[in-house]
Amino acid sequence: MDDPVTGREGEPMRLLLFDIDGTLVNTLGAGKAALESAMLAVYGETGPIGAFDFHGRTDPAIVRGLLRLAGWTDGDIESGFDATWEEYLKSLDLELVGRGDRVHPYPGVRALVAAIEDDGRFAAGLVTGNMEGGAWRKLRSCGLEGHFRFGAYGSDSERREDLPPIARRRAEREYARNFDLRTAVVVGDTPEDIKCAHANGARALAVATGRHSVRELRDYDPEAVFEDLSDTSRLMRVLADE
Ligand SMILES: [Mg+2]
Repeated sequence: MDDPVTGREGEPMRLLLFDIDGTLVNTLGAGKAALESAMLAVYGETGPIGAFDFHGRTDPAIVRGLLRLAGWTDGDIESGFDATWEEYLKSLDLELVGRGDRVHPYPGVRALVAAIEDDGRFAAGLVTGNMEGGAWRKLRSCGLEGHFRFGAYGSDSERREDLPPIARRRAEREYARNFDLRTAVVVGDTPEDIKCAHANGARALAVATGRHSVRELRDYDPEAVFEDLSDTSRLMRVLADE
């Protein structure tokens, strides 16, 4: 008989580690707008935010990168971090509410996360550059929060590659069993997600719903690439390594 918490008795469970922006949810720029107002409130400037590539970076790495380009020292940047995240989360709430139901999951996401949740072979969590509070706000804004039970966030480390082992430890606590990153799959939309998977011995499933095309993502040798997450049955087979 299947145990609802630990999966099928005696069978290993596979970790699936999802990125959020560009992969699960399109917030129509809510995160960027919120970070811009938080930085203006705390530092009085944003650096070259219009030209800066946010994709695949953690939130603290974005703030540090922008302010370094504007000539700030790391000490001065870090002294504003706590105030920045407080402002950021307040502002993100407003930005998400302002966009209402135009904030949406990408095609197939709802069906895929529901299928994963119903399948005892998988434990689905997050590996995202978002601050923890931002990650859950973005998921909640389109009703996806109930499908994920653990994660690792930009608030845990500025370096994305540090996040999968943190997510694994939290999954082990949550599910009261061991997980192996070598069987894990990182699902994400940028080269940084692919590199993060491979740096941890995990597999990468890349999806071209963010800024990068299938062709661009292929250059980083992910184990699989999809245009979007709409082919649920094929995705489930690839995630299970069948
Ligand atoms: Mg992303």
